[in-house]
Amino acid sequence: MQYVRDNIAQMGGYISGEQPQSGDFIKLNTNENPYPASERVREAIAKAAHTLNLYPNAMGTPFRKAAAEVLGVDPSWIMCGNGSDDILTIVTRALVGEQNKLRLPYPSYILYKSLAELQGAQWEEVDYSSDWKITDAFSRPDGNVKLFFLPNPNSPTGTTVSPDELLALADKLSCPLLIDEAYADFNEFNCLDLVKARPNIMVSRTFSKSYALAGLRFGFLVARPELIEQFVKVKDSYNCDALSIAAASAAIQDQDWLRQTVAKIKATRTRLTDKMRALGFTVPDSSANFTWNVYPGKPLKPIYEYLKERNIFVRYMVYDRWGEGLRISVGTDEQIDKCVATIAEAMKNA
Ligand SMILES: *Cc1c(COP(=O)(O)O)cnc(C)c1O
Repeated sequence: MQYVRDNIAQMGGYISGEQPQSGDFIKLNTNENPYPASERVREAIAKAAHTLNLYPNAMGTPFRKAAAEVLGVDPSWIMCGNGSDDILTIVTRALVGEQNKLRLPYPSYILYKSLAELQGAQWEEVDYSSDWKITDAFSRPDGNVKLFFLPNPNSPTGTTVSPDELLALADKLSCPLLIDEAYADFNEFNCLDLVKARPNIMVSRTFSKSYALAGLRFGFLVARPELIEQFVKVKDSYNCDALSIAAASAAIQDQDWLRQTVAKIKATRTRLTDKMRALGFTVPDSSANFTWNVYPGKPLKPIYEYLKERNIFVRYMVYDRWGEGLRISVGTDEQIDKCVATIAEAMKNA
């Protein structure tokens, strides 16, 4: 395409999971929350809908104040985003120029690579060890690496790296380490305190998974105010709308809802893991709201297709050097039982 920058014309573009729009289906492919969001969210949106003639607060400060109370950080350490993908975009644009490099673990979230490609920048994947630990390659010195994205818990595996290991990694890097905590609410620990401990550590969060608000598009970054000040120059002036700011503020204030919902999802996660292992799959212990299911020697695409024909959507993924797997989001008990029973059926018929 002659009008378009070469790096755009050459890139594949990020492909998200299928979003069937109608009909009766079980959707376990994009790690959405199966439960409705807190009732307080709907009330907040209804109230905010009365003032849509006005521009929203450009920094989303009502949310920053609400989040500051819950998280124990100053509002000046928080920047709001139109989903956490917006946060990742802003940080990449601010830190990674053409000719620079973005480092990311492999296998992990595929979007990171697309963000580097949009910049016309390079990217470098560093492989996890076979038991999903970080390796020396993660901290390999390279002055051209300007940013490291590391999801913790990781996607698609649900595995984690400990805060101590991440501190040690950050200390060896000459660039910022952004810990993508999209799934941290499902984990036993998070890395928020590391942001205070080191000037080159940042944490991003989203409302799409644990808070059941994927349709809302809201996420945020926790970083030092000196960095936030720079990132604010890069973001759209009104990157979050008034409804999402009001909704996310209400959501984060309802920690009881979060605790109860996360507890249900964790219980179903154990159920899913046990059942898939019983079918012979290898499933690492997950600290997120999905599991990663591999079966050496058995082709998984036919199972994915079998499920899809029956309106059950899971994510089929193939990674160079690692092979294929099924990433299954933790739905309700009923959805998981149906999904696993259908997988068993597919395996019998294969
Ligand atoms: C889902 C996900 C996000 C994106 O969240 P949004 O707020 O919906 O943009 C970011 N990082 C990882 C690793 C994710 O899985």
